[in-house]
Amino acid sequence: DRINDRLNAKTRFFSLEFFPAKTPSGAVSLLSRIDRLSQGQPLFCDITWHAAGDSGSDKPTSTMTIASAMLNYCGVETMLHITCCQMSKDEITTHLTRAKELGIKNILALRGDAPANCSEWQMPENGFRYATDLVKHIRDVFGDHFVICVAGYPTGHPGCPSYEEDLVHLKEKVDAGADIIITQLFFQAPVFLKFVRDCRAIGITIPILPGIMPIQGFQSICRIAKMSNLVIPQEILDVLEPIQDNDEAVRKYGIDLAVTMCRELFDSGIVYGLHMYTLNREVATIEILKQLGLWSVDPCRPLPWKTTANHNRSK
Ligand code: FAD
Repeated sequence: DRINDRLNAKTRFFSLEFFPAKTPSGAVSLLSRIDRLSQGQPLFCDITWHAAGDSGSDKPTSTMTIASAMLNYCGVETMLHITCCQMSKDEITTHLTRAKELGIKNILALRGDAPANCSEWQMPENGFRYATDLVKHIRDVFGDHFVICVAGYPTGHPGCPSYEEDLVHLKEKVDAGADIIITQLFFQAPVFLKFVRDCRAIGITIPILPGIMPIQGFQSICRIAKMSNLVIPQEILDVLEPIQDNDEAVRKYGIDLAVTMCRELFDSGIVYGLHMYTLNREVATIEILKQLGLWSVDPCRPLPWKTTANHNRSK
């Protein structure tokens, strides 16, 4: 039972994205948070990859360790992000082999961004230039073991000269073997719906999951928008600016906005699932999912320690 089968089944679902914690104690709280959030039955949870954050060691804070704990301790279907940053093909193969050994079956294949000290992206020595090359590599070496997900940009990738050209490159990633597209965050439902129509028009037929980031703070959303080269629509700024110092009011508005946008996405009849950028927080995400009727706790879900115990016993 692979996640892309469920995505194609056209029933409603959600998935949750987390990023690795910076410290061992942060990793412990992150895992309890993932465990609490997975009670709501996400289709999968994914964990981001950071060029400098995972050196292949067994540091408890690394992406790979969190991914393994997510899967084997929390018992949730796990997707591991991996980028082409600062790694040769061989290093990437080593990480993917380890992921396979840990039981991970889903990869989000990305090019990644230039490290903070470089102005633009440069292909690593003996590495890959584009995510397309990584997707091809994964298919060549691992066949169909992994469900492969790639990134899509509803307003175009900022490094690409045009929206249309970026769509062509997205099609190349799909043709190279991707199964699912997850999008960058966006602020208005019509932007995503147009993107899906444009993808379908050029022959992209795989599921496209909208990336939803609830606004949880004024400064943080401005920073994220700047980093991702996104423009926050004026009508949203008009509401946010007068309440920017009232965190509670901003969070409440963020929840209302996300719920309204997600309802519009579902009403379109072409969206079945949501990919929630949790920012490693739980309150807003749970509230949005509850309001949308997507949050349902499974009373029979085994406790995390039980998952681990069963796993060890079956060894
Ligand atoms: P690509 O698909 O390779 O595209 C990069 C650029 O190259 C685009 O402008 C594209 O149009 C262009 N291009 C592609 N092919 C060609 C070609 N043949 N000729 C010319 N131009 C071409 N970053 C992280 O570091 N860690 C993460 O975990 C992470 N997770 C992410 C999750 C999602 C859902 C998204 C949307 C982004 C994520 N990112 C992450 C950010 C991502 O790494 C950056 O946006 C990066 O700049 C592009 O990655 P990509 O995989 O989309 O690249």
